[in-house]
Amino acid sequence: MATTRRDYYEVLGVPRGASSEEIKKAFRRLAMEYHPDRNKDGGAEARFKEIGEAYEVLSDTEKRAAYDRFGHAGLQGFDFGRGFDGSDFGGFGDIFEAFFGGGSARRSREAQRGADRRVDIEIELEEAAKGCERELTIDRIERCTRCAGSGSEPGSQLTRCKACEGTGQVRRVSRSFFGQFVNITVCGQCHGEGRIVTNPCDDCRGSGRQRRQHSLTVKIPAGVADGSRMRLSGEGDAGANGGQPGHLYVYISVAAHPLFAREDDDLVYDLPMNPAQAALGFEAEVPTIEGDRAPVKVPPGTQSGRIFTLRGKGIPHLQAGGRGDLLVRANVLIPTDLTDEQRELLRALAESFGTPVGNGDKSILGKIKDALG
Ligand SMILES: [Zn+2]
Ligand SMILES: [Zn+2]
Repeated sequence: MATTRRDYYEVLGVPRGASSEEIKKAFRRLAMEYHPDRNKDGGAEARFKEIGEAYEVLSDTEKRAAYDRFGHAGLQGFDFGRGFDGSDFGGFGDIFEAFFGGGSARRSREAQRGADRRVDIEIELEEAAKGCERELTIDRIERCTRCAGSGSEPGSQLTRCKACEGTGQVRRVSRSFFGQFVNITVCGQCHGEGRIVTNPCDDCRGSGRQRRQHSLTVKIPAGVADGSRMRLSGEGDAGANGGQPGHLYVYISVAAHPLFAREDDDLVYDLPMNPAQAALGFEAEVPTIEGDRAPVKVPPGTQSGRIFTLRGKGIPHLQAGGRGDLLVRANVLIPTDLTDEQRELLRALAESFGTPVGNGDKSILGKIKDALG
C-alpha cells in the first residue's frame, strides 16, 4: 500500500460531517469523471482508484468511525478483501457497475435450482400394454413473463442496495482479545442480490417468478409397470437467478383389471369351464389385452389350475422388445344350481363312475349319492 495518502474527505471533496448521501453523490460524480474508460488522462486511473478507496471507507459506518478517530492507521486490520492494494481491481469494477447499472452476472446473485414437482396418474392395463399419452395440467412456478424474471416492472430501474452497497454481502468486524474477526454474511436487505426492486412487477410482485398452470403431454411407454416413475427433465419449477429448473416426476399406477392379473410382463386369465367341458375337452376363446380373442384348445381331462400358454400375448417388455405371455388357467367350476334334469344326469354319471379310481373307500361314493339325494 502507498505510504502517503490523501485524506479521504479531501479525495471526495466533502466536509468531515458529510452525510452518507452526500458522500455517495460525490463518489458518483467523481467516479464518472475519472473512470479509466472515459478519462484517458494519465493519472486518471490512480485517481479513480483513490476515489474508490475513499468511498469504501467513508461509506462504511465502522470504517469511517475508525478513520475519523485514528486516520489511515485506524484502518489497519480491516478487511480490504475487495482489494485496494492494486491486486484486485475487480471489486472496484463491481462498485462502478452497481452504480451505473452496467453489471450483469454478479457473483452475489446466487443461482438456485428450481424445486422438483410430482404428479400422480393412473392408467388402465390396456394403456400400459399399448403405451399412451396423457395431458397433464400442473401447478408450477415459472419465470415471470412480464418482467422476464427480474422482478422489476418493465422500464423501471433496479436500485443498488444501500445496506450492502450492492455487494450482496455484509461485512462485520468484531474485535476480541485474540484480534479482529471479519464476518461476511449475505445481506438481509437484498437477500444477496445487491439490488433492490423499487418498482415491483405488477404480475409477480417483484419475485420474478409466478405460479402458473402448465399443460404438457406425457408419453407413457408400452410396458410401464405399476409404481413406475418417469422424470421429465426441466419441467419442474423455474430456478431463481438463472438457476436450472427442477424436474417433474410422474408417478404411474396401473389400475387393476377385471379379467387379467399381471405377473411381471405375463398376464393371467382364468378360463371358466364346467366339469363336463374339462372332462371332454373343448375349443375355447379367450379375450386378450389387445381387445381381440384368441382360440385355446382345452384337451379332454383338463384339471383345474392347468395352464395354457399363449406366447407373446402379454405385456410388451419395457424398452426391450418382445413381450410376455398370456397364461390361460383352467378354472373348473362345480355347478351349484342344478335343474332336475341335470341332477338326474349326474346321478346316472355317478353310478357309472362307480368307485373313484385310486381310492378304495366305498363310502365316498355313498356320500356323493347322499349329497345328490
Ligand atoms: Zn414479474
Ligand atoms: Zn444488500
